[in-house]
Amino acid sequence: MAYTVPKLTDYSAAALVKAVNQCIDACQAEAAAVKNESELKLLRDRWLGRKTGILTQINDLWLKGSPKGEKREVGIHVNELKLRIQILVEGTQLAVGETVKAVSDGVDITLPGIRRPIGAEHPVIKTMHEIVAVFQKLGYSVAEGPVVETDYYNFEALNFPPNHPARDTQDTLFIAGQQTKPQRERLLLRTHTSPVQIRTMERMRPPLRIVIPGQVHRNDPPDASHSPMFHQVEGLAVDTNITFGDLKGTLDHAMKALFGSSVKTHFRPSFFPFTEPSAEMFVSCFICGGSGQRGSDPCRPCKQTGWIEILGCGMVDPNVFEFVKDNGYDPKKVSGFAFGMGADRIALLKYGVDDIQLFFQGDVRFLQQFS
Ligand SMILES: [Zn+2]
Repeated sequence: MAYTVPKLTDYSAAALVKAVNQCIDACQAEAAAVKNESELKLLRDRWLGRKTGILTQINDLWLKGSPKGEKREVGIHVNELKLRIQILVEGTQLAVGETVKAVSDGVDITLPGIRRPIGAEHPVIKTMHEIVAVFQKLGYSVAEGPVVETDYYNFEALNFPPNHPARDTQDTLFIAGQQTKPQRERLLLRTHTSPVQIRTMERMRPPLRIVIPGQVHRNDPPDASHSPMFHQVEGLAVDTNITFGDLKGTLDHAMKALFGSSVKTHFRPSFFPFTEPSAEMFVSCFICGGSGQRGSDPCRPCKQTGWIEILGCGMVDPNVFEFVKDNGYDPKKVSGFAFGMGADRIALLKYGVDDIQLFFQGDVRFLQQFS
């Protein structure tokens, strides 16, 4: 019996695949039975005809007739089906004389292929992977954690007590409707990757060396250098007798691995609630070589200073260890250092991009340049 397009009542993936396969089987059988030029024309009209062809009917009955929530899924199946039927019917050719060669598997190798472009790593993700790889070579393992965090992991256990003014600097995006919960259980979008430090120390006893890549959110209005969503790479090393010298040596090595062996590093005192002492680390500008000038023009990325601020770091505050003391992190016995950097900012500097928004607008013409 000739194939007719069935009405769909079940829009599950399994039912769609079944309907698609039945349709393709029917088309294959009809294509294989074509014997001459006029039958071939009939086949084309029946399947591809613009007004009443089977593909048009499928479009009307399956796609237009599908419930709202299912349209996307149905669309994917219908498009795939259309493509395969077109290849099948167009690929059915008359061979020498009046005999017909049907392309039974739906692929005619004499037709030009369908180009499916291969994607490429996003420049920010690529930069994150490069940073992570440097620390993996030093023996660090990768740790990850949830983007939706509790107040406890994002603030309290990192030595930001409730009402501490340092919380204000983090421009936190809170999840709505949490007011009835105790403060430490309230959910928010993590403002840094640091909660993963606590989560990992709860799971693993010292010594510990981890590097933490991940997405973070802050209530920053988007502009050329800010985005409400950005990426950090953070590191933590804990052992007996870890000193500030270990911190400097590790980070100096990492910067040379990332930006070239000629870069210099320097540290300036800073403040973070979870480290004591804390520092900001600068690298000599790898764009102008530290001179502050590019030819006769001022070097903008380093603001003519010859130095670029690249990360925050410090020795883990003993108060932080107190929260995981029971798992072997007695602040009297272990010490450690931590550091964190913005992967997006490093990608901006590395690729000479002057607007962070370009990274997240999904414009393929922009992103293609990095593939
Ligand atoms: Zn410079």
